[in-house]
Amino acid sequence: MFKGINASDGYGIGVAQVAVAPDLSFTPRVPENAEEEKARYAAALDKFVAQTNAQIERMKKTVGEDAAEIMGAHIEFAEDDGIKDMVNGSIDSGMCAEQAVSEAYDTYYTMFSQMEDELFRERAADVADVKTGLLADLLGKEVVDLSTLPENSIVVVHELTPSMTADIDKENVAGIVTETGGRTSHSAIIARALEIPAVLSVADATKNIKTGDMVVVDGTNGKVIANPDDHDLEHYRAKAKVYAEEKQALEAYRGKETVTGDGEKKLLVANIGNPDDANNAAEHDAEGIGLFRSEFLFMDAKELPSEDEQFAAYQKVALRMKDQPVIIRTLDVGGDKEIPYLNLQKEDNPFMGFRAIRYCLNNPEQYKVQLTALLRASAFGDIKIMLPLVTNLDEVRQAKQLIEECKADLDARGVEYNKDIQVGTMIETPAASLIADDLAAECDFFSIGTNDLIGYTMCADRGNDRVAYLYQVYQPAVLRSLKRIISEGNKAGIMVGMCGEAAADPLLIPVLLSFGLEEFSVSAPSILRTRRIISQWTKEEADALTEKVMALKTATEVKAMLQAAVK
Ligand code: PEP
Ligand code: MG
Repeated sequence: MFKGINASDGYGIGVAQVAVAPDLSFTPRVPENAEEEKARYAAALDKFVAQTNAQIERMKKTVGEDAAEIMGAHIEFAEDDGIKDMVNGSIDSGMCAEQAVSEAYDTYYTMFSQMEDELFRERAADVADVKTGLLADLLGKEVVDLSTLPENSIVVVHELTPSMTADIDKENVAGIVTETGGRTSHSAIIARALEIPAVLSVADATKNIKTGDMVVVDGTNGKVIANPDDHDLEHYRAKAKVYAEEKQALEAYRGKETVTGDGEKKLLVANIGNPDDANNAAEHDAEGIGLFRSEFLFMDAKELPSEDEQFAAYQKVALRMKDQPVIIRTLDVGGDKEIPYLNLQKEDNPFMGFRAIRYCLNNPEQYKVQLTALLRASAFGDIKIMLPLVTNLDEVRQAKQLIEECKADLDARGVEYNKDIQVGTMIETPAASLIADDLAAECDFFSIGTNDLIGYTMCADRGNDRVAYLYQVYQPAVLRSLKRIISEGNKAGIMVGMCGEAAADPLLIPVLLSFGLEEFSVSAPSILRTRRIISQWTKEEADALTEKVMALKTATEVKAMLQAAVK
């Protein structure tokens, strides 16, 4: 069994086709006529651009407009004036077109592959792809063709370039295994758009797997099994069958409203960690964003992101989601989320320490940079600001005071923003739950963070196996807390949502419906399933079940009753 990065969900079982890249080696020569050599380069460029444009048109039909746009980067790298000048300049100084192209693209490849930002680093693959396309044409070679593969092929390649992925014959490819690439690489994005299970960055895959080997690709868990035994095969065939049936059945919920069995409208939104995740959320039919964990912007950087950098990230999500709500949580640093350049002191008990809103309010000038960026982005969509780890009303008041100061600064700068921007709070501490009535009076919305709320309520670490029996949403103490939070929010007339993992728990959803939860914020792949489960319960059924559940005294009893009731 080989481990890799789970880049595209699902289970593929098939026969390996190990694709070897064409030999693009050449012996440099000094051309007799530089103008003729430049014309060869220009012709290769024209052909490449024409082929890529044709590919984009094909992809629009197979993977949709957004994913097809990815190939636009190839056109940009082919037609880039800087690169063209470099190639033509090298030809003028005596190089052949092959060498000039090779050296120019290698320079750009090195530049991109050394960049800090993962997204930029991933663009190095596009640069390499353009080089391969141009060189293959100049040398009269064919690039790897994945458009004519036998049925049930598992493609095994060192690097799956975007253009290879673009040509892939979706019907015949059951899975993809590569030796390079991450979840944000273009190949991964396209594999997801094509819904082909993919595991990337499997070391030595092209050496360890041979063409003709039977292979299982578990794209959900990032595992690859070569030459599986009968037991493995049976296990994965069953998994693939259940996955396919579930997925097919869930398609009926795409494009539909999220409504309960008796027609009550709910809001079904997604949790995201970076601006590009918004595309994935929209593709999975999210009705907005219920939690953008902004700390990832900070964790991915080497120093504090500037106001403009943050604004660009928030604006991107706002524009992508159009008029749909986008809740952005302000920096939730500390606990398990470390940001080295903030140089926070080591603490004996970081989960109860100087973190999240505590840190931000203690560094108001830094916090205002984020709040200002959020306000500026609010001119481009329905952005709402959410405060993490609140335990008392002072924190909400102080944060709102800072937001007012930022608004005044923006007024003075003459910058647009939404003057009525909503400010809400995460309810993820027992303290916040206990004062939910007071918080509701001064907040525009609640979003329940069950991931932390369970831990703090039960004094049980979510990562500690030995206390896993305590860390359960089915614990009566947690359920009573949830009931109280939702009821206080509802009484005050504010929206109450949930962005902790429990919002997508099929067992808990009827209880949440009975309590009156309005918004469910879940991971993108859970959207359609959550919509289906919500549609299966009427208020009356959910109330009847919840009444019985709330009379139980232990988590074991609660879970057993919910399991028996699940539809
Ligand atoms: C939560 O605590 O439930 C939550 C959504 O926040 P995080 O998982 O980022 O702590
Ligand atoms: Mg939390």
